[in-house]
Order: sequence, then C-alpha cells, then structure tokens
Amino acid sequence: MNFVNTTLSELEKLGLKRTLRIHSEELINYSTNDYLGLSTHPLVVKRAVEAVELFGTGSGGSRLMAGNLPLHEELEHRLARLTGMETALVYGSGFLANTGVLTALAGRNDTVFSDRLNHASIVDGAITSRGKVCRYRHCDVQHLSDLINRETGPGRKIIITESVFSMDGDIAPVRDICEVSRRNGCILVVDEAHATGVFGRGGGICSEKGVVPDVVTGTLSKALGSYGGFAACSRETREFLINKSRSFVYSTGLPPASAGAAVGALQVIESRQVAGSELVSRAMLFRECLKQAGFNTGNSASQIIPVIAGGSSETVALSHSLENRGILAVAIRPPTVPEGYARLRFSVTLGHQLETLQNTVEEMRNLKWN
Ligand code: PMP
Repeated sequence: MNFVNTTLSELEKLGLKRTLRIHSEELINYSTNDYLGLSTHPLVVKRAVEAVELFGTGSGGSRLMAGNLPLHEELEHRLARLTGMETALVYGSGFLANTGVLTALAGRNDTVFSDRLNHASIVDGAITSRGKVCRYRHCDVQHLSDLINRETGPGRKIIITESVFSMDGDIAPVRDICEVSRRNGCILVVDEAHATGVFGRGGGICSEKGVVPDVVTGTLSKALGSYGGFAACSRETREFLINKSRSFVYSTGLPPASAGAAVGALQVIESRQVAGSELVSRAMLFRECLKQAGFNTGNSASQIIPVIAGGSSETVALSHSLENRGILAVAIRPPTVPEGYARLRFSVTLGHQLETLQNTVEEMRNLKWN
C-alpha cells in the first residue's frame, strides 16, 4: 500500500497532516463543543448512570428490531418540546442524522441545494442521495434563489443549511431561506448542531426566529454534553424517516447512557439552571476584545469564534505557541475550511470566566503574527 505513505508525506509537506492527541496537561480548552459544560453536570451524569443500571450498556439492536427503549421516546418528546417541532427522531449521531435525512428525502431525480460551507455530514448525505447537488454561495439567498429557478425539472428540491456554521460561527439568514423555500415549494432542512441548547432558550436559531423548517437536524454531542443525533419534524415526516432513513433503519439504537445523559441535559436546560444566552453574551465580549486587538474573526455571531490566520503551517505554529502558554485552540485547515482561510477556532463555553477570556486575548497579542 504505497499510496498510504505517499499520501501521508504529501499531507506532512503541506502542513495538513492530522494526528490524534491526548491532552494530559492542564490547558484552557477552547476546542470543546461542550458549550454549557453539561457533560460533567451532576444531574446529567446521574441520568446516564441510572439509564445504564436500568437498561444496560447497549440498546441491543436497531430501534425497529428490539432496540427501542422508553428512554428513546422520552428523549424524543423532550427534543420536540425544546425545538418547538411536532416530534423528533433520535439517530446514532448528528452525522447519521444528516446523512439519513438527506438520503431519505432526496433521490435520483431530485436536487439538493446546499450552502457551500455546510458540514461534511451534509456533503456526504447529499452525494449519497444520488440527487443533483447544487452548492450555493455561503449564506447567499439570492444565489440560492437563482439556482432554484434554473432547476425546472419535476423532481423534489431540498434546501439544507446549518444555522450556526461550525467553522465560522456565523448565522444563516434562516427567515429569508425559509421564505425562498416556501415560494418555490422546496423542502427545508436546517442543521442546528451548534445552536441547540445555546440560542432561542435552547431551542436553536429557528426557534429563536420563529422559523419552522420541514426538518431540524441536530446533535446530542455538543451543548447537550452527550452523544447522538436527532431530526425534529412533523409526525408524518417522522414516520417516513423511520421507514426510509437507512442510517436509522440499519444502525443500532442510541446506547442507554447517551440517551439518559441527553434527557438529563434537556432537564437542566428546561429548568434554566444554565443559560445559552449567558454564553452568547460572554462570547460577544471575547469577540469584541479580539477585534479591538486587530484579529480577523470573520462574521462570527455566536460562541464559535474563528481567528483567521491564512496559511496552514503558520496557523499550526500559532496554535503550538498558544499551547505553550497553556491555551488550547486547535488549528483548522483545508479541506475543513477553504484554502487560504486556515484559522484558530475558539469555542467559548460557560466554563470560561471573563478574566480568562481577557487573559487569552492578551496572550494572543503577545504571539508572533506574520
Ligand atoms: N452538523 C454539524 C454542523 C457539525 O458541526 C457536526 C459535528 N462536527 C455534525 C453535524 C455531526 O454531529 P456528531 O458529532 O453528533 O456526529
């Protein structure tokens, strides 16, 4: 397998080689998606332990075989309530939710309109659906509308966008996109992976803005501090997904511990013990300080704040220097982001106090930037 070594050394040369690491030293962690710190919250841990004691460590099979637990359904009720949708369906991960929803909704004669910066799970879902994929310019509603108008065939038209973009932290104009979708008889899917638990009292950006897409997808693995994914939708769409979503039908149901933890996280969010709004304002302060210090944070408007540096190797070097100062902000490089837009990605969490955030900006100022 010569190509394996050749590929690895090419990646190394380009500064694009990825490696797995275990961070044992104490670092201020800006690279976690555990935005509300719920993965270690006592109630969340308790619910996970109770679920294991009650149902065991595995769900034992696909939900359509014998793997459907009352806990899955309780979780779905709570997710529906949080997002303001009629029902929800839980998947094994957010990745599986996106691929499962897209492959169920789109087929050979259909078209998927996808924001150019959408997550890999959306890209893969759109490709495996076998439909035509049209990528519109990032958050460009006019371009989306033009592409839709060019598609005159009889097939279904599916629009998919993230609400909070994972690498830029900017927010899609979901109201305008929904309007374009309605006007053109499209099906709208919004991935709220980074917004659930944070925006709109936890319900996400669509809930905050009063927008009701056909399907909301999301993950249990970020602000909810667990693992798993979901699609929130109407009753009929849920039934359709149960029948037609391959990643739902042919994959094992979510393990009890993950389902229990997610139920616990939703209880914590519903009881307002933690507030996403507090996180959003703290992130805004951090972003303003970074901007004042001259850093390019793009169009970030959420807890995800990129500091765009440009080249891959220099971004990796900056990340290493920060790490030597006790700060973990991982370098994000192509193909995750476009060429020339490598960045340090900061996720602000409720675990970061204001003083810590200010110190981090100071440390950033002290770094050598080209
Ligand atoms: N959608 C988006 C926008 C994401 O950022 C991610 C995770 N990086 C996913 C989906 C996949 O979620 P999960 O980690 O639960 O598979």
